[in-house]
Amino acid sequence: MTVGIVGGGASGVMVAAQLLRAGRVPRVVLIERADAVGQGVAYAPGPPSLLLNVPASGMSALPSVPDHFVRWLGAATGRSDSSTFAPRALYGRYLADVLDAAASASPSTLERVRADVTAVFRRAAGVVVGLRDGRHVEVDACVLALGLFPPSPPAGVPRGLLADPRYVADPWEPGALERVDGDEDVLLLGTGLTAVDVALMLAERGGTGTVHAASRHGWLPRAHLCTAVEPWPVTFPAAGANGRTAADVVRAVRTELRAAQRAGRDWRSVVDGMRPLTQHVWRSLPDHERVRLLRRVGRLWEVHRHRMAPPVAATVDHLQAAGRLCVHAGRVGTARPVGGRISVQLVGGGGETALLVDRVINCTGPSCDVTRAADPLVRQLLSTGAARPGPLGLGLGVDADGALVDTRGNASPDLFTIGSLRKGALWETTAVPEIAAQAAALADVLVPAAPRTAQREAV
Ligand SMILES: Cc1cc2nc3c(=O)[nH]c(=O)nc-3n(C[C@H](O)[C@H](O)[C@H](O)COP(=O)(O)OP(=O)(O)OC[C@H]3O[C@@H](n4cnc5c(N)ncnc54)[C@H](O)[C@@H]3O)c2cc1C
Repeated sequence: MTVGIVGGGASGVMVAAQLLRAGRVPRVVLIERADAVGQGVAYAPGPPSLLLNVPASGMSALPSVPDHFVRWLGAATGRSDSSTFAPRALYGRYLADVLDAAASASPSTLERVRADVTAVFRRAAGVVVGLRDGRHVEVDACVLALGLFPPSPPAGVPRGLLADPRYVADPWEPGALERVDGDEDVLLLGTGLTAVDVALMLAERGGTGTVHAASRHGWLPRAHLCTAVEPWPVTFPAAGANGRTAADVVRAVRTELRAAQRAGRDWRSVVDGMRPLTQHVWRSLPDHERVRLLRRVGRLWEVHRHRMAPPVAATVDHLQAAGRLCVHAGRVGTARPVGGRISVQLVGGGGETALLVDRVINCTGPSCDVTRAADPLVRQLLSTGAARPGPLGLGLGVDADGALVDTRGNASPDLFTIGSLRKGALWETTAVPEIAAQAAALADVLVPAAPRTAQREAV
């Protein structure tokens, strides 16, 4: 049996490593368009100031060896501290090492193909993976580990701005930030982790420019504590006869927050205690309640759940105190070119703010909306009916094992996905703890240690 994996970011590498470690499949083919594997946008070489937003103790690629990354870090840097927030580029090296170690100790063969996959077809037996250069690879089963899509244009931004050469549509596109001079004044659209990364990278260049960052609420991500937080034992009341609603979820979390506060515990312990339950709660909501939940508390959840490493938070505080970073609540009302610069009017947040900047950078973060994705492979899967969009258009429709569900509602026996393409089904599915667990489970689904009899059901 040959398993193909499309995408060699963290997810693809973890699936490959699990298959190789299990040694039950003779050949694994890992197809990645970039030179290196284990990187993707998150873990590509970059400045050491870009830190993981999860402590080392939560970053093992192998759920069966929880301190795997901590030990690797100790061997690689001489410092092994489970509460440290390591540089992201170092994590890319770790993943490459995990794959190399799994391949060299395995009876299975790992074949690396550097190519862009543009189509995947199911045959009577097996799957044909079509590459942009005209070649194809035949496999028995295929895992789509495509990761995150480039950001979509921010909603409501004037079209003229999107077409302006001073507008940067995707800060992670190679070379995108190199065009920005340190003396330029810049407006970041978004105030989440992407905006924080970009603000840090721009500030590190020196220069006299001011970085403005704007979002509807003007909320920056909260910071992790320097010490580990013990998760609060969150419990959720069972869903009522009419199912669970967004209001039930908000009420339950508030109750837990109050209880934790009474016990002298930090709010972070409740957010972390929610983590094992989040997917279950999301799955228990009908689509219209999911939409309500996101409208009501989506952004609030994001800023508390996806937190900044303490050193990053300290730098952000320093930049704000020095006036180098100014955060605004508001959306772009108007934007027009004025003397080689862009005049932007921010509206909302209780007033209007006029800014004159040299660049506007889209920092709304990666997209998971397949209905807006230009990715040829995703378009081909949707247009042939081999896949359908996931709930709310987020990722693809999948069953509980991550098998793609086609337009007729049938779960595929040989096409699977992992990570962000399961977003609609699971919501919390892009961070390392979730993808590491999915990779281990998927390896067992692909080549079970014992024959499986369970029926597949869409989730
Ligand atoms: C900036 C940033 C920082 C993050 N920091 C953290 C963190 O500190 N901790 C944490 O837990 N999570 C973090 N995350 C979440 C992150 O999404 C995951 O940890 C992880 O990077 C996801 O890996 P992935 O392989 O699913 O996706 P990606 O990293 O996006 O990798 C997908 C890979 O597939 C390849 N690919 C896609 N389509 C094709 C195709 N058609 N043909 C060939 N190759 C293809 C791409 O080139 C890419 O290499 C971060 C995310 C971002 C964006």
